[in-house]
Amino acid sequence: MLLEREREAIVRACRDLAAAGLVVGTAGNVSVRAGDLVAVTPSGVDYAALAARDVGVHRLDGAPVEAPLAPTSELPLHLAVYGAYDTAAVVHTHSVAATAVSTLADELPAIHYYVAMFGGAVRVAPYATYGTSELASHVVAALRERTACLMGSHGAVTIGPDLKAAYDRAGYLEWVCEVYLRAAAAGQPRLLPPEEISAVAARLASYGRQPGRA
Ligand SMILES: [Zn+2]
Repeated sequence: MLLEREREAIVRACRDLAAAGLVVGTAGNVSVRAGDLVAVTPSGVDYAALAARDVGVHRLDGAPVEAPLAPTSELPLHLAVYGAYDTAAVVHTHSVAATAVSTLADELPAIHYYVAMFGGAVRVAPYATYGTSELASHVVAALRERTACLMGSHGAVTIGPDLKAAYDRAGYLEWVCEVYLRAAAAGQPRLLPPEEISAVAARLASYGRQPGRA
């Protein structure tokens, strides 16, 4: 089986996303790039029943190489991200707080130093119908110099040098969105200046630590 390790990791990530409440039902999708190939979740399969062999392998132009099921409808989004950025994994969720923020704002502002993990304030990509190339290009633009974006009235995308990094960022993004919603409901949150976010980003890069353990 092609990309067996990557496909097994995607199955585990999907089950973890569901268990963590970051997706509901068959929503969300996950991909990993390995060279000229992309392993990506199929469309509409319950994560509890998902097996590694169900995870499709496609070329970067979308052509199926070893894909027994139809790919996620967001395959164009995953491929567009790999075409635009040097990244190895894409996680797309419909997590509740991130989706709520995506309906309210143009960006998730720098209310907490964790946004340094994403490269700064997280943009909200304009809404477009799911599965369209228009949505894919909005997401690519919103990810410029960032490792995360929100998708207007839809959900969130995180990327990373490996699946663990992209998966972990999805959880941190959800946490910051939840904090933002609670803070904004109670008052006007204070924002951190861009130079502080840059300083935190430099610390993260130099120590290679997760911010929670810093
Ligand atoms: Zn979606």
